[in-house]
Amino acid sequence: MQVVPLFINGKFVQSKTQNFRDVVNPATQEVLAKVPFATKDEVDAAVSAASEAFKTWKKTPIGARARIFLKYQQLIRENIKDLAKTLTAEQGKTLADAEGDVFRGLEVVEHASSIGNLQLGDFANNVANAVDTYSILQPLGVCAGITPFNFPAMIPLWMFPMAIVTGNTFVLKPSEQDPMVTMRLVELAHEAGIPPGVLNVVHGGEEVVNAICDHPVIKAISFVGSTRVGTHVYNRALASGKRAQCMMGAKNHAIVMPDANKEQTLNNLLGAAFGAAGQRCMALSVAILVGNSKDWIPELVSKSKTLKVSSGTDANVDVGPLVSKDALKRVTGFIDKGTNEGADLLLDGRDVKVVGFENGNFVGPTIFSNVKPGMSIYDQEIFGPVLCLMFADNLDQAIEMINANPNGNGTAIFTQSGAAARKFQEDIDVGQVGINVPIPVPVPMFSFTGSRASKLGDLGPYGKQVIAFYTQTKTVTARFFDDNTVSTGVNTTISLK
Ligand code: NAD
Repeated sequence: MQVVPLFINGKFVQSKTQNFRDVVNPATQEVLAKVPFATKDEVDAAVSAASEAFKTWKKTPIGARARIFLKYQQLIRENIKDLAKTLTAEQGKTLADAEGDVFRGLEVVEHASSIGNLQLGDFANNVANAVDTYSILQPLGVCAGITPFNFPAMIPLWMFPMAIVTGNTFVLKPSEQDPMVTMRLVELAHEAGIPPGVLNVVHGGEEVVNAICDHPVIKAISFVGSTRVGTHVYNRALASGKRAQCMMGAKNHAIVMPDANKEQTLNNLLGAAFGAAGQRCMALSVAILVGNSKDWIPELVSKSKTLKVSSGTDANVDVGPLVSKDALKRVTGFIDKGTNEGADLLLDGRDVKVVGFENGNFVGPTIFSNVKPGMSIYDQEIFGPVLCLMFADNLDQAIEMINANPNGNGTAIFTQSGAAARKFQEDIDVGQVGINVPIPVPVPMFSFTGSRASKLGDLGPYGKQVIAFYTQTKTVTARFFDDNTVSTGVNTTISLK
């Protein structure tokens, strides 16, 4: 049985722990590997390797840093099919979507390789007589990342490339549910030339995460995962004086206006609700049908029935399995609650049968109508292929409903009206806004910008904001005297003379 290694000081090493968890294929229940829960000493060893490496890495020229990431993007590109295969085996999503998972991370690596234009300070000439002021963006030191199960390629790649290319060193704690593709990406990073100690990986759960939050040497933590754990990480990291950014849970609403392009809207809505079996933080889990767009429900339901539920490796699959038996139990439990609490179950995915994969964690597309605030299926994040339908008389009412929900991760409007789209963009209180785009995850020159209960910390995990997150601004005010400068005597004022 393969045991997933730790990666400390440039070496793949076996943990000395007695505590392991199985990595399980969600379509077959085959145990693919065992992942160790690292000991406290191993976390310390990773941090101290990162701390030692920082001494030289922080002074490594920008061009040398950038070239490693140029090489890294090439290696990821060459290995994308194999990375996707590993990802599908341990996480379940379809091979095409797994490739998308790697590709969206690859885009961040490409962006990291243009660091020369990103980590620029400011300069002001002659702010006083012969005085110049300039600011420099210096790396913080050892930073850490904690990632969720649902994007085991993209989300680690949101984190360590931008942290490292800005001159920091890094300790990554991947999801214990699917660490294998992440480790393959770490192997490729090593091959690309990231020096020993600059990137380190420890595995584990609550104890390792708490050790990272408390570690006095770690300067900043980037977390992506559930609201419950993210809030804990944020508070604990701040209590020990760290910077933290926590991208957390969601309940993403779409507004469907009656003037929307019907075919495009229904296709986009279903792709975003049921793709990745609903296990995306940007999945559309609620659709608010405005006015006559409610007449499209029968077509929405019949289209949903055409989606193929199967193993992610099946050539024609649309919806793969949920990540674990626990997730299966939670999602089917929500569907039970939805019916008990009075929502109308228009399509029930609980009893889906997948020939050849009878042990898979499958739930088919599920649609509830007449969903109301106060119902568990609306108030909580289901993280499964369940779409809740609600109704509004007009756009204002729909916007009010979304702004009343505590989450602010993503949202979308479907309309052909520029005026409606612009009103939505202005008045909606959500971080990521799509206009006829169902999953508006920003490309890396912009930042991921969840708001309200979906995010803690001011700065996003990539884009311009992440340069600010991973650097400390130092402002230098400098004067050099010409030999013939005439002294004006002692200056006892605050003014620069
Ligand atoms: P999770 O919160 O269970 O796990 C995230 C990380 O925290 C993992 O590395 C895990 O090992 C660790 N962890 C788990 N329990 C812990 C505890 N008690 N104490 C300390 N650490 C703990 O999340 P998940 O189930 O892996 O991922 C799904 C969640 O992530 C969803 O809520 C989803 O919306 C969210 N998510 C958010 C974004 C975003 O950008 N906002 C992106 C992806 C996923």
